[in-house]
Amino acid sequence: MGVGIKATKKTDFKKTHTKKNILESIPDELIIDIVARVAASSSSDLFKAKLSCRTLNKFADDKYIIQRASLDDFPVVPWTPNNRKQAIFSERCADLENPEALYRRGIVGYFEKMEMSSSIDCLVRAAKSGHLEAMYVLGIIMILHGDQTKEQGMKIIVDMKTLQTKENIDIIRERFSRTLGSMWVNNTMVVGLVMPTCCTIAEHPKSSRWGKLEDSECEACSCDQEIVHLWEILPKSI
Ligand SMILES: [Zn+2]
Repeated sequence: MGVGIKATKKTDFKKTHTKKNILESIPDELIIDIVARVAASSSSDLFKAKLSCRTLNKFADDKYIIQRASLDDFPVVPWTPNNRKQAIFSERCADLENPEALYRRGIVGYFEKMEMSSSIDCLVRAAKSGHLEAMYVLGIIMILHGDQTKEQGMKIIVDMKTLQTKENIDIIRERFSRTLGSMWVNNTMVVGLVMPTCCTIAEHPKSSRWGKLEDSECEACSCDQEIVHLWEILPKSI
């Protein structure tokens, strides 16, 4: 009998250690957390992890992971069929409220596809998650729309310039420029026809509006500088 028990234990040991995936002994939450960290660093690495084993593949579509995935490796506008897989992934990310994916859907939707209302909604959702570029673009768009939203847009830009360092604002502006440069800007309804102006103080010289982006002491002139920057980077055909 004793021998029989020993034999069974040996069999169990072999079964456990030869056939069971080691990941199956790790709690699901921990795997999701680890894979989310991988995805936050690079979605290309997330794709590799998915292919590497069935367990990781099973967790890779978890909402927590998708919301945190970095899209830095992927172009904003997929130009080639090779980017198709990335484009589908980006759409999935936006559907699950990934802030960067929402920002991209919003900016492409607004400036290229001219889906104004749904795009602004995406930018608002991204901005509420703390996405600074989305907040910046939202401020600019609200100024472009004029009337009731202009004041609100100016407040967003002024608050950002107060709270963020100059270096951060430069990075946000440059990333916006690069993103805009990678797409067809078709939105002639509010962009390109007449450049709006924020500062209404006649004595403020035009040079302060067109001056260096960090120079103006007037908040409205400081907003005008961002609008001037947008006009400078827009394709000249508009
Ligand atoms: Zn001014």
